[in-house]
Amino acid sequence: MEIKNLVEYQKVDSKLFQLEKQLTQSANKQKCAQLSAIAKESQQKSEKLESQASQIAKEIQNLFAVADQNKLKIKEILGKDLEKLSAEELDSALSLKEKLMQNLVVLDKKATKLAEMANAVLAEFNKTKVAYKNAGEKFKQFKEAYDKEVEDASPKINELKKELAVIEKNIDKNLLEEYAKRRRDRIFPVLVPLNNRCCGGCHMEVPASSVSKLEREGILVCENCRRIIFKI
Ligand SMILES: [Zn+2]
Repeated sequence: MEIKNLVEYQKVDSKLFQLEKQLTQSANKQKCAQLSAIAKESQQKSEKLESQASQIAKEIQNLFAVADQNKLKIKEILGKDLEKLSAEELDSALSLKEKLMQNLVVLDKKATKLAEMANAVLAEFNKTKVAYKNAGEKFKQFKEAYDKEVEDASPKINELKKELAVIEKNIDKNLLEEYAKRRRDRIFPVLVPLNNRCCGGCHMEVPASSVSKLEREGILVCENCRRIIFKI
C-alpha cells in the first residue's frame, strides 16, 4: 500500500492539528468557560435567595396578621364598660389584656429579627447580582477575543484544508478513514516510523513477527497506542 501520500498528508495536517489545538487550549476560551460557570452559579444563588426572601416576607405577613388580631382583642377589652363587670370578669379581662400585650412584644421582637434576616438576604442578593453582571461583561470581552483568534486562524485553516483535499484524492479511502478515526480520538501523529524495532509513537518494542509483517505489508498498527507504523 502506498503510504507516501498519507505521510505527506499528515505533514500538512499536523499544521492544522496545531492550529486547532491552539484554539482549543486558548486562554480566552478557558476564561469564557470559567466565567460562564460563575454566571450560572450566581444565577442559581440568586434564585435561592429570592425564594428565601419570599419565605421571610410570608412569615412577616403572618406575624402582622397575628399582631393585628391581638390589637383588636385589646381594643375590644378596652372598649368594654369595665364598671359593669364583676370583680371576677374584670380580673380575667385585665389578665387577658396583659397576656395579649406581652404577645405583642414577642411578635415585635420576632418581626425585627425577620427584618434583619430579610436585609441580610437582600444584601447577599445584590452582591450576587453584581457578580453575575461582572461575569457577563467579562465573558463578552473574552468571547470577543476568542472569536478574533478563530477569525484570524480561519484563512490559514481553510488554506490547509484545501491543500489536504488535493492530497486526499491520491490516498486509499480505507486507509484515510483509519487515519481520520485516530485523529478524531486525538491520537497524533497518527503515522509513525519504526525506530529500532520500536513504535515511533509510544516506543513500545514491536514483536519480530510484526516487524516481518510490516516488511511485507508496509504498515502495521501498534498494539499499544493504535498508531499506524510505517516502514521508511
Ligand atoms: Zn505505539
